[in-house]
Amino acid sequence: MFEQLKKEVYKANIELVKKGLVLYTWGNVSAIDEERKYIVIKPSGVDYDEMTSEDMVVVDMDGNVVEGKYRPSSDTKSHLEIYKAFINTHAVAHTHSTYATSYSQAAKGIIPMGTTHADYFYGEIPCTRALLSDEIKNDYELNTGKVIIETFLGKDYNAIPACLVRNHGPFTWGDNAMEAVFHSVVLEEIAKMAFITEKVNKDIQSINKLLLDKHFKRKHGQSAYYGQTK
Ligand SMILES: [Zn+2]
Repeated sequence: MFEQLKKEVYKANIELVKKGLVLYTWGNVSAIDEERKYIVIKPSGVDYDEMTSEDMVVVDMDGNVVEGKYRPSSDTKSHLEIYKAFINTHAVAHTHSTYATSYSQAAKGIIPMGTTHADYFYGEIPCTRALLSDEIKNDYELNTGKVIIETFLGKDYNAIPACLVRNHGPFTWGDNAMEAVFHSVVLEEIAKMAFITEKVNKDIQSINKLLLDKHFKRKHGQSAYYGQTK
């Protein structure tokens, strides 16, 4: 089942490697089916070199494997929580990419310092609180998903498709598997730029709201005019 979705998820996982965002078997991408009853996710601990689209695992919304010969990614329950709360999200990616993970480890959100950020993320990319001892001991992966949802209370996950999980790393999402990966790639570049910008000017502030609006809205929403009309 979901052969097309498996191909998309496989390709998106490979894209993470091609873009230099994952080492070894780190990182994972999933996508949800149209009825939002199942997700297709990367298998746990299988080498990217040996992986095929057939190895993608189909899991129901309770985390039970429905199809696939491997166990699903150990982060599956984090992905499921994101799909349950962020109902417009169709795909999720998770990496330990260097710069975004460094901000996660430093417990620091990434404020918009320039238009590269503003083009894709409409405001600060937030960092979650630390998980409590109980949340680490019991249902760790589920609680990782929950703390992302909690961080987005009062925020628009459609306009800021990324979150830094404190002491861990970034999760991003999108309309499809490739877009979720695209957001991981852009996030990593923005994190790198932010790091350098803060080195050059430690007092750096967010960009002007007008400029943030201008850049985000020319690419997203009803008044977008960037690129070609389809
Ligand atoms: Zn991780």
